[in-house]
Amino acid sequence: MDQLLKCDANYVPLTPITFLKRANAVYANRTSVIYEGTRFTWSQTYERCCRLADSLRSLNVGKNDVVSVLAPNIPAVYEMHFAVPMAGAVLNTINTRLDAKNIATILSHSGAKVLFVDYQYMELASKALGFLDGAVPSIIACIDDIDTPTGVQFGQLEYEQLVQRGNPGYTGELVQDEWDPIALNYTSGTTSAPKGVVYSHRGAYLSSLSLILGWEMGNAPVYLWSLPMFHCNGWTFTWGVAARGGTNVCIRNTSAKDMYHNIAEHAVTHMCCAPIVFNVLLEARPHERREITSPVEILTGGAPPPASLLQEIERLGFHVTHAYGLTEATGPALVCEWQKKWNKLPQQDQAKLKARQGISILTLADADVKDLDTMVSVPRDGKTMGEIVLRGSSIMKGYFKDPEATSKAFRNGWFATGDVGVIHPDGYLEIKDRSKDVIISGGENISSVELESVLYRHPRVLEAAVVAMPHPKWGESPCAFISVKKNSNGDTNDVKESDIIAYCKKNLPRFTVPKRVEFMAELPKTSTGKIQKFQLRALAQNFVVS
Ligand code: ADP
Repeated sequence: MDQLLKCDANYVPLTPITFLKRANAVYANRTSVIYEGTRFTWSQTYERCCRLADSLRSLNVGKNDVVSVLAPNIPAVYEMHFAVPMAGAVLNTINTRLDAKNIATILSHSGAKVLFVDYQYMELASKALGFLDGAVPSIIACIDDIDTPTGVQFGQLEYEQLVQRGNPGYTGELVQDEWDPIALNYTSGTTSAPKGVVYSHRGAYLSSLSLILGWEMGNAPVYLWSLPMFHCNGWTFTWGVAARGGTNVCIRNTSAKDMYHNIAEHAVTHMCCAPIVFNVLLEARPHERREITSPVEILTGGAPPPASLLQEIERLGFHVTHAYGLTEATGPALVCEWQKKWNKLPQQDQAKLKARQGISILTLADADVKDLDTMVSVPRDGKTMGEIVLRGSSIMKGYFKDPEATSKAFRNGWFATGDVGVIHPDGYLEIKDRSKDVIISGGENISSVELESVLYRHPRVLEAAVVAMPHPKWGESPCAFISVKKNSNGDTNDVKESDIIAYCKKNLPRFTVPKRVEFMAELPKTSTGKIQKFQLRALAQNFVVS
């Protein structure tokens, strides 16, 4: 018995590469990827990944080398999610909305050996390389459009040629340790400088599976790539769709027209997006819209989705599941798992329940809300605020080349998220704010998220963000920044500050009513579409309350 317990002769490391191998074996003729007029089956995708992995190996790319890619949601980036780790290397998908300086910082910090650049991003990549003082990746390859090649050249190599010249029978680099790195993802830097987060094969495998379960994604989904693959590897659905033998509908742009067109054309069943994308779908012009005739499941997260927005998007025929996560947690860590008994509640109450961030996904050992000084859990009363802390298999091992930040991020083995929340009597967690965004007025904590959810209920508010501004008596008081939806004449300036304040007075406790409302055409956002509160805070610092 003792001997059996110690025996690891049949140890097989967990890796999402097995999802692709299985898809090739079980769903060989099923469509794996659709991109404009191009279609692949799972056996073709598998073969293309083997070829690319072989080509990378023949270029001497191998164990732990970083392969960076700057490209939108195209088939090449999907294939790299398997081919790069099949070559033993580590995939680093770079956010295409970053500026050249930030891209250069990532290339230099990650020590990228290879850089793949989509033809649309060549100018941005050239600029970024210009900042690198000669220490550029040794292999640079261009990705031309696979559907309508332009013939452009950039760097020494071209993606499609690399695929074609590789050996389709490649069986190469086997993962020996499931803790080996598979991907390197940089945080989007909403509150601090981007940090590199290392994902392991094991974490990627477990997260993919538990998200499929948490979202109840069945066999053969048709998955629209409305979430960037560069965002936590598309919240791990790059790997997860292969595990379900699904179809990846790749799109370059997340315009309303492209999303509606692809949903209707390919009978999309699933998509992920940040709540900000709901506005794109809701504000679509009539000629861009298509009717949603069969249910489309949306997994949303990345920022708090106001309950009113959830109701509006579901009225169009989408069905939303809410998740919460962060780069350090390999994407979503909590999911607002729906309880059947909630179906009996009025729509508005259902939306409020759905706006809560939820409970831990299966690979998370635990999620809690604690007082960070004492590490004692807050009572489950839905009121007492504390820091959201997580631990389990999907939490990162640490920040790349940054032991100091890594040790700061963990307390007694728990990862401190920097988000402030409460825990309800039913065990569901709800975010109230990022710790840096809480407004402390006269000693009371005011949740900017709660104020924003009330503002979003105003029929003319398109975007809302509330930050602290100095107050001579209370220390801080709330200041709201909003952008407004057009009226039937196409105007936005008919909404006045006094209207919004009067509305807040009707719907909020008096001490939380914003003392000032600033109108903007559009609120400043990060490269992942999150509102940049630090910019708004800087503006609000100069406001004087009379
Ligand atoms: P960054 O921290 O740079 O924004 P991430 O993309 O990792 O990079 O973002 C994680 C943060 O996004 C979380 O810490 C949290 O503040 C916010 N977030 C993610 N999902 C949700 C959600 N469902 N509701 C509220 N906030 C969320």
